Amino acid sequence: MGDSPPAAQFNDQAIVDLVPMVRRVVGARIRDPHVVDDLVQETLTRVMAAHPRVEAETLAPYAAVTARNLVASFAQRSDRARDKAHLLADVDLAELPGEDLLRQEERSLVGAALARLPSAERDMLVAHEVEGQDTKTLAASRGSSAGAVAAQLSRARAKLRVEYLLEREGIEPPSDRCRPVLRALSAGDRRRQRELDTSGHLLECDCCLRLSVSLLERRPAATGAGETRVAVTKDADVVTARQKGREAAAGVGFSATDLTLIATAISEIARNIVRFAERGEILITVVAENGRHGVTILARDVGPGITNVPEAMRDGYSTYAGLGLGLPGAKRLMDQFDVATEVGKGTTVTMTKWRSRDG
Ligand SMILES: [Zn+2]
Repeated sequence: MGDSPPAAQFNDQAIVDLVPMVRRVVGARIRDPHVVDDLVQETLTRVMAAHPRVEAETLAPYAAVTARNLVASFAQRSDRARDKAHLLADVDLAELPGEDLLRQEERSLVGAALARLPSAERDMLVAHEVEGQDTKTLAASRGSSAGAVAAQLSRARAKLRVEYLLEREGIEPPSDRCRPVLRALSAGDRRRQRELDTSGHLLECDCCLRLSVSLLERRPAATGAGETRVAVTKDADVVTARQKGREAAAGVGFSATDLTLIATAISEIARNIVRFAERGEILITVVAENGRHGVTILARDVGPGITNVPEAMRDGYSTYAGLGLGLPGAKRLMDQFDVATEVGKGTTVTMTKWRSRDG
């Protein structure tokens, strides 16, 4: 959160306002909609990289010129690999099970997860959530206080979420550290997370990493759209990742402008993996919380890590940002952004965008 908020706010809006114009410039010259997306995103990337050096009023003409240049150099390039990557990305549209089936499945999963809790916690959850007993009543029957019961309930819920997800994925965590880590994530207990070195564990543990996306979003139930995983080692994977992200976000009902912003953020993060890490992957998850919907992008790599995160999060940070907008740019495009890194091991970026309620 190192930015000065008013400036960041202004720049965000300035970039967002450019999207329709850039789209028109590119769209007037290129027919293939995927290529249009690509070039619009590339333009935004460059504009954002430049904007600390460019006055606000200069942004629009700068963006238009950049878009035109990119269109021209695209026309000159005879690189067909890019097009093929688009074709591949379009093939596997997952078949989703019907909603009834999902609900039924979900009920049996919750049942199975409940059965895994210690009986005292299970009974308390059932009394509260199913039978509707309030915390005062529960406290009276247990010789405890309402506050203590509320805390116990919230711990029990956090455990239940973990067991639910393990049940849903049909997995048993690989190490003794996993359950405590998952519970701390599920409970949103940051102090406990630090004690357990949660971010270090997530860099090593596939199982917890996968589950952490759902846990951090407090999503006890599947929304049905599921998640998509893209392995990232080469440039073509960057295109695939942002295609998949766009698809997922489109399914959530994001506006065309938001789709571009999300795809651009994914693009930047994926590009960082290709550029700086040996290999990595991007996990795209549709999320829901308190009636709002969004997408969470989790990008993890095996690589050098980032020595100085606050520095890497500053605009214009040369090593990490390169030509693109880098981490600070991606952060500005999303609503939530978190970096966990370990030098010599790798980096995990988690970012979420929520659909605005009116759009
Ligand atoms: Zn683990």
